[in-house]
Amino acid sequence: MTQRIAVLGATGSIGDSTLAILAAQPHTYEVYALSGYHRLDKLFALCQQFLPKRVSVPTSAVDDFAHRLKAAGIDSEVVGGEAGLVDIATDSQTDTVVAAIVGAAGLPSTLAAARVGKRILLANKEALVMAGKVMIDAVKTHKATLLPLDSEHNAIFQCLPLAIQQDNTQIHQSNHGVRKLWLTASGGPFLQQSFEQMQQASVAEAVKHPNWSMGQKISVDSATMMNKGLELIEACHLFDLPEDKINVVIHPQSIIHSMVEYSDGSFLAQLGSPDMKTRIDSGSQPLDLFALSGLEFIEPDLQKFACLRLARQAMQAGTQATIVLNAANEIAVAAFLDGKIRLTDIADINEQALNDIQLPPLNETADIEDILAIDKIARHLTDKLVAKLT
Ligand code: NDP
Ligand code: MG
Repeated sequence: MTQRIAVLGATGSIGDSTLAILAAQPHTYEVYALSGYHRLDKLFALCQQFLPKRVSVPTSAVDDFAHRLKAAGIDSEVVGGEAGLVDIATDSQTDTVVAAIVGAAGLPSTLAAARVGKRILLANKEALVMAGKVMIDAVKTHKATLLPLDSEHNAIFQCLPLAIQQDNTQIHQSNHGVRKLWLTASGGPFLQQSFEQMQQASVAEAVKHPNWSMGQKISVDSATMMNKGLELIEACHLFDLPEDKINVVIHPQSIIHSMVEYSDGSFLAQLGSPDMKTRIDSGSQPLDLFALSGLEFIEPDLQKFACLRLARQAMQAGTQATIVLNAANEIAVAAFLDGKIRLTDIADINEQALNDIQLPPLNETADIEDILAIDKIARHLTDKLVAKLT
């Protein structure tokens, strides 16, 4: 039977790789719904190619986009804004939702999909960073399936015993023998450069990832290693572990996608070619072991990559702090991409936001409204921090 898929964030980099896979297996997958935001010409071309039943665009673009589709003889239904995304994410006609919107903008639809028990292929790590507990609770209560597309988490998942794959709380049972998780990081484009060189980096240099091409925000996050910080928080939620049970190691070749350390001293690693598509399966080159010259492992420099230190600090402090860190980082990255601040200012702004915005811990019953309220406060105050620098 064909699986009906909704791809939220279809116009992005993860959207590209996902749709390439779906297009290659038309008998297995039906592209049921798509969403885009700024790149509406690209979304239009995707509608021509896939003829989805439903499409979501920003509210202000609904009428124009619907007209355009109609004129081209495409009868997709067009919905708008956050409500449109939530509507698509919860549509009873779909089996699977690919959550590939970048940043906090992806949280409401991803959570909504969890709350109706969908199978979620999660790229939108920010949703877990902001609302890990709420998301995981929703997945459990509504029997949703949450499969991380992030190659590191996917790798760890594959290196864990089946019982833990099926129930993350089982990771605490000593019979499974899990001692630590190891997230590998490429180290980004500035691994071999000094802090001073990093300070002078242009946008083009910062977004040029050594091993793959991704959206602008995650590329900058890779350059500052905030990406690994966000992934650390993501891993704490996915695998139900405190941050001190998760180590980060720089592995510039990106061949080992991540590892699990067991209490008998053995490590299980998942290896593959550094191709983003391997984790969604199909079409990527097999790993040529004979062509590998050597694998390096380097301890991250937490002064140069302060964002990684801040992520640990925020995770220790609690959800209110991870929401602040995520929001501050989104604002700071956007300011860097706009040419307003330096790459190295991002960590400073994030740190200042964490220090300035001291909030009481969120209580057990905190829900998405509470989370979005903190996100809003943090964005507002971070805007001011950016303005001070510009
Ligand atoms: P891109 O920037 O390439 O794509 C982001 C997508 O989100 C686009 O479809 C974009 O629409 C949409 N979008 C942006 N802002 C909004 C908004 N306010 N409301 C609704 N939709 C919006 O990012 P990536 O594909 O690289 O990354 C997507 C997510 O996946 C991120 O969370 C990232 O961390 C994660 N990820 C990405 C990896 C990669 O290889 N790229 C690897 C692992 C995780 P439009 O383009 O039309 O404006
Ligand atoms: Mg990753």
